[in-house]
Amino acid sequence: NLKVADLQKILKKYGIEKEFDLSGGIPDKDVMMKIYMRIQGIESQKGFQLSEAMLDSVIGKYKVGSILNVPNGKAQTVQKWQEIIKRIQEKSMEEIGIPCIYGVDQIHGTTYTLGGTFFPQGVNMGATFNRELTRRGAEISAYETKAGSIPWTYAPVTDLGRDPRWPRMWENYGEDCYLNAEMGREAVLGYQGNDPNHIGDNSVAACMKHYMGYGVPVSGKDRTPSSITEQDMREKHFAPYLEMVKNGALSVMVNSAMNNGLPFHANYELLTEWLKNDLNWDGMIVTDWADINNLYSRDHIAKDKKEAIKLAINAGIDMSMDPYDWKFCTLLKELVEEGEVPMSRIDDAVRRVLRLKYRLNLFEKPYYDLKDFPLFGSAEHAAAALKAAEESLVLLKNTDGILPLAKGKKILLTGPNANSMRSLNGGWSYTWQGSNAEDCSEPYNTILEAFTNKFGAENIIYEAGVTYNEKGNWWDENAPEIEKAVAAAAQADYIVACIGENSYCETPGNLTDLTLSENQRNLVKALAKTGKPIILVLNEGRPRIIADIEPLSKAVVNVMLPGNYGGDALANLVAGDSNFSGKMPYTYPKEINSLITYDYKPCEHIGKQMEGAYNYDAVVNVQWAFGYGLSYTTFAYSNLKVDKTSFTADDVLTFTVDVKNTGNRVGKESVLLFSSDLVASLTPDNRRLRAFDKVELQPGETKTVTLKVKGSDLAFVGYDGKWILEEGDFRMQVGDQVVGVACSQTKKWDTPNK
Ligand code: BGC
Repeated sequence: NLKVADLQKILKKYGIEKEFDLSGGIPDKDVMMKIYMRIQGIESQKGFQLSEAMLDSVIGKYKVGSILNVPNGKAQTVQKWQEIIKRIQEKSMEEIGIPCIYGVDQIHGTTYTLGGTFFPQGVNMGATFNRELTRRGAEISAYETKAGSIPWTYAPVTDLGRDPRWPRMWENYGEDCYLNAEMGREAVLGYQGNDPNHIGDNSVAACMKHYMGYGVPVSGKDRTPSSITEQDMREKHFAPYLEMVKNGALSVMVNSAMNNGLPFHANYELLTEWLKNDLNWDGMIVTDWADINNLYSRDHIAKDKKEAIKLAINAGIDMSMDPYDWKFCTLLKELVEEGEVPMSRIDDAVRRVLRLKYRLNLFEKPYYDLKDFPLFGSAEHAAAALKAAEESLVLLKNTDGILPLAKGKKILLTGPNANSMRSLNGGWSYTWQGSNAEDCSEPYNTILEAFTNKFGAENIIYEAGVTYNEKGNWWDENAPEIEKAVAAAAQADYIVACIGENSYCETPGNLTDLTLSENQRNLVKALAKTGKPIILVLNEGRPRIIADIEPLSKAVVNVMLPGNYGGDALANLVAGDSNFSGKMPYTYPKEINSLITYDYKPCEHIGKQMEGAYNYDAVVNVQWAFGYGLSYTTFAYSNLKVDKTSFTADDVLTFTVDVKNTGNRVGKESVLLFSSDLVASLTPDNRRLRAFDKVELQPGETKTVTLKVKGSDLAFVGYDGKWILEEGDFRMQVGDQVVGVACSQTKKWDTPNK
């Protein structure tokens, strides 16, 4: 509803009125986004001062009990965070007598605190298949978040990243519900510690998000409608939340969008019945950004703001994030007085908010002393982040064993991602869009810097060929200079092409085409003509289609968004000082019209999984399958055994398999166990991940890996919305080993628990 005159005023205020042409009225979305980014840039240059007048209003007058996000839209020093939170807490205790709960999106490390430790993004943590690393990462993030006196972080993110068009795919642990549940649980325990009733001095409250099904918008665009069936909702999207709630997660944030026409923020069944009633969960439900308002302004399920508030609060919302304006309180009070919102609902919400504040010990200790956090930004924390980054990189192709690169040879580094900290980190890094590259540059290494350190300056040639336009939108590229890169290639023995995406987050990250940019593909095609071997480095938040350039490469490494230590991790791996052990946490598509997940039904897409698998001619080609990833060594699987071949829902099946390192380098292997239900009353999923473990093996060493699966884990949600484990045969697979098991007794149940 912005008027041209108002926009003009805003532009004037920032002295940028000459940069944007408003003669044609309010500009289109792209230009508006440019304006937004420009203003964010200007704001971020200013030092932040907490305004006493603002505190008088927000806390003194309006008694706000929770504040979120980053002052000036920009990361602060840990000392500044301490100062800000201390003042907010003093004011809250003075004016309200109840401490404030401050929340931030430090979702992949302490990413809104300068000098904090940055871990890889969720999608990379998924690729590690390493629970310990995920827990340790969250523990370190919690410690460093608390060093800034912040008690609450909006993570983990366990939307299932099942649609590569969706701009938030990288925030999650990949496409699979079991992987998200396992990693989500580890993250919750890492953030909160083991006793959710008493969050310790070095821990914070987790906030599971975004409840739920956010990752499968029909349009592929952020915050747009999905069409999830009840079966899928319960069986897949709910799975991580169930696991995290069982492990003490203290709060949840709701999905901004809607499913089958009903916005999640007004869904009583999902908010109150599934979460609060069925699970007896006493945690707190917070909205996402301005989403109560959206119920009338965007979603049109309420005629006005008042009705929107009524729908959301009655559905089970306990806290409104960005209530949009002060009418929220007045209108809610009116609704209670009119009997439209029961007082018992208000009591319940208040109890949940206060319970969280007590659990966080905020009444006793509303802020902290920095000297109690000597490990903030320490070398120990950096080492953990580097390790996570190394284990998260996925080697997808290594023809003729071209990697590791031979020492003493000349390497051309090229592509827009070769010399960028911004692209290594992705969104939610220093700023919402991750766009403040200058803040991130020191002391961390871009890929170029890390390669220079590793291979010696005399062996590195750099010519980007294509660069991002940092003044434009994240997808804008400058006029390419491909000839320069081609000329530079003449001096090189190897070409390392660092391609992918610049950072983005949420709606601004929406795409019109999943294919990698034309400039970048042209760069690779031109370089291929030189005949020099090409190593593709994919630095991107979601799989961008590269089917035409992949065959031109000798090797491919998927680095995704590995964080501040991603450049070093890549250099260590490419030099052969460390070994690759990451595996794909999602399916990499080969074609625009072949966007599927590994469990997709009914057609098989990764070779013959089941005897006589049917196909309907719906051939779906994938570039790289879920769970795929190479190493510098090789592993052989043998002796897959199960302790019982016939089982019921209450049994635990114990599988053992021997894994041998058959190469000549030490390596880590993620051992994944998949099940396939051969016949079921609903078309069964192609395959489902049911268990995994990661083991390290010396050359020639064999370890027996034990994997446990509960009989009830093999159930699915039937057409009637109830869980059912059906009598019949299952095919269980680990590596190339297969064993059959049979369920001897059908069982049906309707609790959310399996
Ligand atoms: C995002 C959330 C985030 C919140 C607060 C929203 O726009 O969807 O993931 O936690 O903003 O910054």
